[in-house]
Amino acid sequence: MTRLPSRPNLDWKDDGTPVATAFDDVYFSRSDGLEETRAVFFRACGLPDRWRDEKSFTIAELGFGTGLNFLALVDLWLGSERRSDGWLDFLTVEKHPMAAEDARRSLARWPELKIYADQLLASWPEQTIGLQRIVFPQWRISLSIFIGDAADWFNLVDFKADAWFLDGFAPAKNEAMWSEDILKGLGDHAKPGCLVGTYTVAGHVRRGLAAAGFEVSKQPGFGRKRERLEAIYPDNAPCDPQPDIFLRHVPKREIERVIVMGAGIGGASVARQFAEAGLSVTVIDRAEGPASGASGNPYGLVMPRLDAADTPQARFLIQSYLYALSFYAQYAPDFAHEVSVTQVPQSDAEIKRFSKLAEDPPLNDGRLSFSDEEPVSLIHHGAALVEPAKLVAALLDHPSIDCRWNQSVETLEAICGKSDEKTLIVISAGHLISGLLPEMAEWIAGKTGQVELAESVSEDKEALAIASGSYALRKGGDLLFGATFEGFEGDAPAVTGEARTHNIEALGSLAPDWAGTLVEAQLVSRASVRATTPDRFPIAGCWFDRSETLLNLAPLQHGAPVKGGAVSDGDVYVIAGLGARGFTFAPLLADLIVSQALGRPLPLARSEQEIVSPVRFLVRAIRKGQITD
Ligand code: SAM
Repeated sequence: MTRLPSRPNLDWKDDGTPVATAFDDVYFSRSDGLEETRAVFFRACGLPDRWRDEKSFTIAELGFGTGLNFLALVDLWLGSERRSDGWLDFLTVEKHPMAAEDARRSLARWPELKIYADQLLASWPEQTIGLQRIVFPQWRISLSIFIGDAADWFNLVDFKADAWFLDGFAPAKNEAMWSEDILKGLGDHAKPGCLVGTYTVAGHVRRGLAAAGFEVSKQPGFGRKRERLEAIYPDNAPCDPQPDIFLRHVPKREIERVIVMGAGIGGASVARQFAEAGLSVTVIDRAEGPASGASGNPYGLVMPRLDAADTPQARFLIQSYLYALSFYAQYAPDFAHEVSVTQVPQSDAEIKRFSKLAEDPPLNDGRLSFSDEEPVSLIHHGAALVEPAKLVAALLDHPSIDCRWNQSVETLEAICGKSDEKTLIVISAGHLISGLLPEMAEWIAGKTGQVELAESVSEDKEALAIASGSYALRKGGDLLFGATFEGFEGDAPAVTGEARTHNIEALGSLAPDWAGTLVEAQLVSRASVRATTPDRFPIAGCWFDRSETLLNLAPLQHGAPVKGGAVSDGDVYVIAGLGARGFTFAPLLADLIVSQALGRPLPLARSEQEIVSPVRFLVRAIRKGQITD
């Protein structure tokens, strides 16, 4: 099987209805797909009444297809009575993602949805495997689509839905989508009181839903169908939560305010997302303005690190990249410029990795192509060249965000003392985080990175970039290159001549033509400290109580099962260890934090959340028997 998910083969009926030839079935009713959606799914699930008083409502769907159900739902949500701070999460799965142009053609028959369809099509899911989250703050809706098989979705992703739309083609034409396991998975992913709608009344679907714990009833059908099904997951359905070792879910609490410590890209991404969610946010930084530390280089690149195999790490890296691109396009488009980055292999291992990627690419050729020469280079299309300080300032420019500059916070207690139980604290203080959370010192190390800027060296104003360990980019006639990656000690990072020489040499081999335009006297160097972790993945999520967590997780040392998971009171969150990829990682990690804090479905699959969980180093140390206290 290839890593790139396959597009569906389509036939088109005369009236414009798409048919999936592999299933010999239509994507929606030919009599009126939109009316069918309303009758079969919305009515069965008690919408819109059920979300009227809810702060957060989650709907899940089997089969995203053309996005018609989603768009009809957007229309219903926006026209309905609901809380001004309410948020809708729509979770869906799709094994054969359509191309945007095919979806456009399918949806063209409903001009009343065009205004929403255009916005969906502009952020249409990428053709890559795994979970993608696409946020529509203008509607207060997040769309989380798992590209892959529904069975894998249920195994890999945790969530509980308030309503389920079962829309996976007719059971006779697509048995796999209605298997016993899938129907059981619906129960595992249903909240008490969850309502289910579907057009089929097939006997094995009714029996499977009943076996999964649902109470099922037949209702009059839509169009030519005599009957349809409704089901409810009982309020008193048994629930058997597993110990939450990696602190995926956090105790629910009422939050009104958020204090974010640190105004770099991590803090700004978190602050903006909480503000968009409707909370008031205070950002505190000891500097005079935004992005004074590692986030403050004159230019930066947002580009993916691609792994040769499909692992949770690889998925996380791709997802964070895609999330960052759309986040900046939404909130700071003037400071994130589209660029193609050529990535040249820097070692034999990388030559092998790039060749494997060329054989089985994880992204389509609109995002990733390969040079014809040997060794093969990667070309990342539609990556971003960012202007960090301006971008961070744009993220913080929101009426609900209040920035306090020149304020140094020495201890966590100092800030906790000033907050109340409705205030949440997020620490995003780069390598300085250990000053506030001493346990972080074990896991966060500072590394100095120095870059060189030469202004106005070219008439060519276009954005261009090339990378190979080090990188060089041009924008508006300026040239920026670097960066070094050295151990850091002391109070402040220092610019050194040695680092400059290293950077100039690296530019000479990476882009000799560009190096030729340099006059060294014009160079301005900048050094900053990047916070890195032992496994090079960032840390994001709710902070935990070390001693209580140790008590619960101690049996892991002997490979024994645990009864309780990591322990937290849910009032402090961290975003740390962003290394040299802060602008790529921060937006998705910020969504993770906001989703955890507000009790919404997470944007990461279980194994991906474990990769960034603040508890992971402790869990590894326990398993290795390295914890003595
Ligand atoms: N809800 C869609 C809409 O609004 O356009 C229509 C969905 S269509 C009836 C069924 C969808 O299920 C197709 O897009 C198909 O590719 C997808 N599908 C079929 N089998 C699947 C599976 N095993 N896992 C995930 N998706 C699957």
